[in-house]
Amino acid sequence: MRTQAIDRTLFIMQELGKAGIIGRPDEENIAILCPFHSETAPSLYIHKSGTAYHCFGCKKSGNWNDIAEFLKLTKIDLKNKTIIDEPDSEYMTVTTCQLVDRSIKNIVKPVPARAWKGNWRGLSQNFLLDINSFLWFEPSTLGYRIVWPINTFKKTRGWLGASVIKGDISPKYRNFKGLSSTKELFPVDYVCNHFKNLKTIVLVEGPFDAMRLISNGIPALCILGTANWKSEKSYKPSKKIPILLAMGIENILCYMDGDDAGREANELIFMDTSKFFNVAFFPLPEGKDPGDADIEIIQDMVYFVDVKFGGFFR
Ligand SMILES: [Zn+2]
Repeated sequence: MRTQAIDRTLFIMQELGKAGIIGRPDEENIAILCPFHSETAPSLYIHKSGTAYHCFGCKKSGNWNDIAEFLKLTKIDLKNKTIIDEPDSEYMTVTTCQLVDRSIKNIVKPVPARAWKGNWRGLSQNFLLDINSFLWFEPSTLGYRIVWPINTFKKTRGWLGASVIKGDISPKYRNFKGLSSTKELFPVDYVCNHFKNLKTIVLVEGPFDAMRLISNGIPALCILGTANWKSEKSYKPSKKIPILLAMGIENILCYMDGDDAGREANELIFMDTSKFFNVAFFPLPEGKDPGDADIEIIQDMVYFVDVKFGGFFR
């Protein structure tokens, strides 16, 4: 048996990730939703050493190995400070910090990623699975990420991720290395497969904005951040435009965030695309974005699309 001194916190959080459970670490403990009783706010605390846990809801207590037994996860040799069982090879790659799989040319893929279980920011589990969401544990920041492949015309052209827990020590969104952010839109294949005879598309800033609109039946693509519409120095039209043309899009509604960067991007995209498409922008109220705007505001936008372009479909 191979033994290895592994940081207990890291190990426990990785193991929880396998069961689709999100651990929230503080100074001493990792808080989780108790697997022994039903709850919506975490009341089970596991000591980072794994030597003890206590649930303030159902009053169960014990150590990490009791939880591991129940969830069929890997136990810890609590005396020897080593792992009893050798972690499976997939997880070994994480503990040795090889975060990337370069099997696809130049594209960094977060491994190991597991199918997403559960909701996220109001999006349903079914929708998130359908759009290819994965749960990925990032050892360098001890953070859980929800990650998506960028699939465009049946090719994976990169990966992007978002923090699962608000206030995580990491950027809210992350475009993984190897992704040409100025050439891609998200989620192209999902939109092509779910909206037929599309003539109008809504362009938004971030992945969540696009997913929220899509889950409300509105065809939308995100530009992966205002800075990524095109490279700053380029006078040529954005390299994202060929994707829209290949999709048969005729009309574009720019629907960026209601802030300075969003308004600037609306104008830039308008100027850039008006040679190829009918384009309009529909500004959001100050401080609002398509991800958090009230449904009434979004309905106004849909009404505008009907009037301006005769709707979304041919
Ligand atoms: Zn409990």
